[in-house]
Amino acid sequence: LFRLKPLVFKIALLFLLGITTNRNHLPTNHPSLYTMPFYGNLSFHNINHASKDFGNRYHLMPTAVLYPNSTSNIAHIIKHVFNLGLTSHLTVAARGHGHSLEGQSLAPQGVVIHMESYKSPGMSFHTADHYPYVDDSAGELWINILHESLKRGLTPKSWTDYLHLTVGGTLSNAGISGQAFRHGPQINNVYHLRVVTGRGDVVTCSDEQNADLFNAVLGGLASLGSSQRPESLWNQLLQRTGLLNNRRSSFNPKDPVQAEQFTSAGRVLFCLELAKYFNLEDVGSIEREVDSLLAELSFIRPTLFMSEVSYVDFLDRVHVSEMKLRENNLWDVPHPWLNLLVPRSSIHGFAKEVFHNIVKDTSNGPVLIYPVNKSRWKNGTSFVTPEEDVFYLVAFLSSAVPSSAGKDGLDAILARNRRIVKFISESNMGIKQYLPHYNTTQEWIAHFGAKWEIFLRRKMLYDPLAILAPGQRIFPRAN
Ligand code: FAD
Repeated sequence: LFRLKPLVFKIALLFLLGITTNRNHLPTNHPSLYTMPFYGNLSFHNINHASKDFGNRYHLMPTAVLYPNSTSNIAHIIKHVFNLGLTSHLTVAARGHGHSLEGQSLAPQGVVIHMESYKSPGMSFHTADHYPYVDDSAGELWINILHESLKRGLTPKSWTDYLHLTVGGTLSNAGISGQAFRHGPQINNVYHLRVVTGRGDVVTCSDEQNADLFNAVLGGLASLGSSQRPESLWNQLLQRTGLLNNRRSSFNPKDPVQAEQFTSAGRVLFCLELAKYFNLEDVGSIEREVDSLLAELSFIRPTLFMSEVSYVDFLDRVHVSEMKLRENNLWDVPHPWLNLLVPRSSIHGFAKEVFHNIVKDTSNGPVLIYPVNKSRWKNGTSFVTPEEDVFYLVAFLSSAVPSSAGKDGLDAILARNRRIVKFISESNMGIKQYLPHYNTTQEWIAHFGAKWEIFLRRKMLYDPLAILAPGQRIFPRAN
């Protein structure tokens, strides 16, 4: 059921927090952390949870975890670390829901800020304006924002597939799902941010106020109705050679029988998923609209199936899979994911080598493909896209199940990812990584391309000692 006004965001995006300390058994590696007056809650114990992330491949202990209760707490500790200057190695990482893949939310021997515990002053909705918006903490989970906004007949426009991620976590990347081709990524739907910089300054920013900082933070890797079109669109690669029943569909099809009977005969099949929002009173016209949408597409007719679900069930679909995987102890396994942004001119060459050759005969997770329009992308942010107007997010979402060996084991998946990365770096196809991870500065410079100089300038300006986001491994801490 869907009659909702789009909602945009006004957000407190905060990097750090404050503390009360248990001064017994304090670690000796960073005495500066307990010689300062703290406010809030800084914990040196039971901090194991902050040493790993969803990727589950890096386990790096912090020295302390901060549970913030105000903006000034956050600013206070960052300023303290900044004032230690070159004499300290301390770094600070904001941690959202810890669903990074390559240790980006970790701070080895540093301070992790548990952003989910910073809820003050809570979600506030502003509905009188022409563009209604919600003002919230960056530590809020998207699923909570969905439920609260629906109570007011509102909804954010742009989502991620999975909603148990924090606002700060997705805005530090981009936040891409099936709505991005129409509404842009989540970083396009932000009015205003409150940022604690790497100097400990609290700065309010928007397109009109401190715009350079606003753009720096969006996609900055934490370092600084009446439509004839579908509302959501994505592709799924069926890389298996057998029957279609190897697909991972988001919902149970109403009549899967015909689809199950189709044999792919060894070819690579793509499953196109379309979502169309509608109100129950429009159920008659929606069928005609769907028919007209489908008439424009070329596909294998017997494989068509449809499902009707509520708006919440649609958006929160991955959580259902999470529950099942948790029951079977298959959620907290290593996730060697690889996400790529492939320009349109390269997609056929990419598919030929990668889908037909490198990833064939693997079944360790879905491969999702999202077409997006760059014209929907805000200019000037830190986010790096391919040069062309249309590009595809291609997401290899692999799980390395412990009992798997051979082609489905962790080592084999990592080797396969390396083959893909090697192929794209040698083929000069203009492909970029999403949720990027690199080992050398040269690779980061190549990733940012023409944006490197401005990214570097902003880093020097807003976080000159490289205190923030050590887990991204772009800039080493100055000391
Ligand atoms: P964390 O993992 O805690 O942090 C990630 C980065 O953000 C770190 O560098 C951290 O320092 C920084 N950060 C976190 N909070 C703040 C803050 N308040 N201020 C400044 N920096 C901060 N991405 C998509 O775009 N689309 C998808 O559909 C999608 N689906 C996903 C599904 C699953 C199951 C998972 C695990 C990830 C998915 N992602 C998707 C990737 C996800 O958006 C990123 O990994 C995101 O960073 C995770 O958010 P988090 O709250 O867990 O952040």
